[in-house]
Amino acid sequence: MTGSQQDEQSQPIAQWFRKYYECPECGESWTDEWSCACNDHCPGCNIECEPESWEDLSRPVTIEDYLGAARLMTGSKNAPASAATDEDAVAYAQAVLEGGECRFLELLREAEFLRHFNQERQR
Ligand SMILES: [Zn+2]
Repeated sequence: MTGSQQDEQSQPIAQWFRKYYECPECGESWTDEWSCACNDHCPGCNIECEPESWEDLSRPVTIEDYLGAARLMTGSKNAPASAATDEDAVAYAQAVLEGGECRFLELLREAEFLRHFNQERQR
């Protein structure tokens, strides 16, 4: 017993996969990255294909993910990690895996837009 707590089990995981496809119809091959190892449509003939193989790029979220999400959501560099929920941190980590912080900002704008949209509709 070291007396230190092991919190790793409860740490949320940002799921991320790089998937390799080869179309059985037209032979087109491509890669895609997404938060599940799911099927994709062939860019050549649009039939649904299962991935031939994939790399699991998933990783546990870190304090940087909470801080990054909090900073972008509040617009404040000094935002505490507690301003972001587990869900926010996972979304941030996945956005960074996908292409960078700008992707997370896009998600925020979409969420903002939907919230406005739903408020308008409730009037
Ligand atoms: Zn095809």
